[in-house]
Amino acid sequence: MYMEMFKLGGQTALVTGGGQGIGLGCVEALAEAGARVAIADHNQGVAETGRDAMKKKGYDVDVFKMDVTNTAEVNQVADAFVKKHGRIDVLVNNAGIARSMTPAETVTDEHWLNVLDVNLNGTFWCCRAFGNYMLKAKSGAIVNIGSMSGFIVNKPQEQAFYNASKAGVHHLTKSLAAEWGARGVRVNAVAPTYIDTPLNAFVYDDKKMYDAWIGGTPMGRMGKIEEIASVVLFLAGQGASLMTGSVVVVDGGYTCW
Ligand code: NDP
Repeated sequence: MYMEMFKLGGQTALVTGGGQGIGLGCVEALAEAGARVAIADHNQGVAETGRDAMKKKGYDVDVFKMDVTNTAEVNQVADAFVKKHGRIDVLVNNAGIARSMTPAETVTDEHWLNVLDVNLNGTFWCCRAFGNYMLKAKSGAIVNIGSMSGFIVNKPQEQAFYNASKAGVHHLTKSLAAEWGARGVRVNAVAPTYIDTPLNAFVYDDKKMYDAWIGGTPMGRMGKIEEIASVVLFLAGQGASLMTGSVVVVDGGYTCW
């Protein structure tokens, strides 16, 4: 009985920014659990590379070109996805940008608005578009990728815009969970620590940064993509059927100190 609660056979899922990194890990986790999964990324080439990587592993994944900041495109993709598959069961809002290492006093309007637009607005536009279909079906699970940066202030890199955007994602998660909880739609978030992705590889050449990141982590290491994807998979399935409005911190203990 219990292992069945972690399976997603017959279900459909879409992962934003799913062409690479943590998003692609989520695509693989959901597909391995039996879901029919789509990658939605603003970069068609990245999405197709991700799809090809999944094909090599035996998973047939759809691709949609979608910029999460473009509400018309988000709505079109939601319509097209449901037209094709008849339903949307799982939405993972993973698309996000950091543009770190910019002190607050030098942040331009463009910089601030861009990060908030992708990370917070984009998450909401997708929750609204896909959530409408879930509410009609009285069933669905949304998992937003937040960050430990929504709870703590990272050091030494300055990124007030990113931290604020992720705190917003966490509270949006709770707000939607409260509005939609009685209507069959669960909304949760995952708040990762530093994950060992190509994007973060520069830290191995920056001793000050490395020491701050790893020295600030009780487990003494970065996380792996699969250590986030596994939690997303859990939240997406019936194993988490009583969970909504939770922000699950997956940080090797970073927020303990
Ligand atoms: P990546 O940059 O590897 O992947 C993010 C994906 O989202 C990319 O394919 C990117 O495309 C895409 N994307 C960016 N903007 C948009 C947009 N407007 N519409 C659609 N897709 C878009 O990042 P990670 O895998 O590292 O991060 C994934 C999520 O996890 C983010 O929300 C991030 O904030 C969060 N996170 C990451 C941590 C880490 O240490 N890596 C730690 C904590 C949270 P492209 O690159 O072509 O722009």
